Amino acid sequence: MRFDVIIIGGGVIGASVAYHLARLGFGGSIAVFERDPTYRESSTPRSAGGIRRLFTSAINIELSRFSLERYRVFDEEMGLRAEGASIAFKPHGYLFLGRDEHRPAFRKAYELERSLGVPVELLSPPEIREVVPDLRVEDLTVGLYCADDGYLDPYTVLMAYVRRSKALGVQWMYETVTAIEGEEGHVAGIRVEGGKRYSAPVVVNCAGAWGAAISETVGLPLPVVPLPRQVFVFHPAEPLVRALPLTIDPSGVYFRHEGERILTGLAEDVSPSYSLHWSRAFFEAHIWPVLAHRVPKFERLKLERGWAGLYDDHVNDHSALIGEHPQLKGYYVALGFSGHGLQHAPAVGQALAERIHYGRYVSIDLTPLRIERIWEREWVGETAIV
Ligand SMILES: Cc1cc2nc3c(=O)[nH]c(=O)nc-3n(C[C@H](O)[C@H](O)[C@H](O)COP(=O)(O)OP(=O)(O)OC[C@H]3O[C@@H](n4cnc5c(N)ncnc54)[C@H](O)[C@@H]3O)c2cc1C
Repeated sequence: MRFDVIIIGGGVIGASVAYHLARLGFGGSIAVFERDPTYRESSTPRSAGGIRRLFTSAINIELSRFSLERYRVFDEEMGLRAEGASIAFKPHGYLFLGRDEHRPAFRKAYELERSLGVPVELLSPPEIREVVPDLRVEDLTVGLYCADDGYLDPYTVLMAYVRRSKALGVQWMYETVTAIEGEEGHVAGIRVEGGKRYSAPVVVNCAGAWGAAISETVGLPLPVVPLPRQVFVFHPAEPLVRALPLTIDPSGVYFRHEGERILTGLAEDVSPSYSLHWSRAFFEAHIWPVLAHRVPKFERLKLERGWAGLYDDHVNDHSALIGEHPQLKGYYVALGFSGHGLQHAPAVGQALAERIHYGRYVSIDLTPLRIERIWEREWVGETAIV
């Protein structure tokens, strides 16, 4: 009943931390506690799969930059190619569309991204049409475009981390954690449903949208809330000229190809809850009118399916909280990904594993995301939230 490291939550973040810790050669025992091996409500399989370097904070750009490099070689690294499988990374680009009022923010983001080596471009309306010939651009004045960002298959990423971590000796315990326990300022272990206790000197909270509630069981609340987000897949009546970049309309509606279909969604203004309800009426009222205006070929479409998933939203700056909790030694947190956890999972797994194994960050310095910033009120300045 004793492990050297316990990871709570086996979604893409927990699985990546487990995999990277084992891969670094961490000698001790590692256990991941995941309550649901089918991941029915987990955020990872419900993700839209996008990866972009178009952020407004250096740390989020750096996390994407590092992760993109890893995703490009993921099939080989994880042995997927040998099995005829793939995360199906599609480097079709990311494109933010803007009007006059967006110009200063786009220019500022462009300068930061360029200074960090991101091959981003500022586009005029005719240039936007060259990238996406089917777009209506008359009401646009600017586009922020990165041609080789893209999207991939979240479930295959997750399963690859699970399987490779198991092959490297990580134990997967399919049990529900009910509490984290501490003793004299140090984490002591966890308790699971049924009352059984597992001890460990290191516990990593990767429980996504449920992570703040679990943290409260050890008296350490975190400003992370579950935010429902809906996604829809439709069949356009007419095919588009070219594969779409993940395109974000000024209204917030985003869309990209999903095979021959189109995947779309909108970050609606909702209160925190665990609702996984999706609604055709919402699509018809709030998304379809935007789609039909932006892409005339979307005026006629067949909505095929939808789903909802949860963002683990860090309410202060919509960027993750990562690191050892200053009030409980050995208690680590990787929560609050606010809609970008899939694309940051390789970097976060690598860096947090280094922090646990070597006692310091080596590949990427995650201190800008430290938990202490809640009290320091030192926000990372991220505004590119989709
Ligand atoms: C609709 C939608 C679209 C998105 N689009 C993108 C995108 O385009 N790009 C991107 O990068 N990100 C996107 N995201 C965000 C991304 O999906 C998440 O940031 C990422 O999946 C978070 O991974 P996680 O491992 O932290 O959470 P999860 O995948 O939710 O994993 C947490 C796990 O913890 C387990 N758990 C919870 N409580 C307990 C407990 N008490 N005991 C044991 N286990 C427990 C859960 O069962 C779950 O499997 C999107 C999210 C949604 C909802």
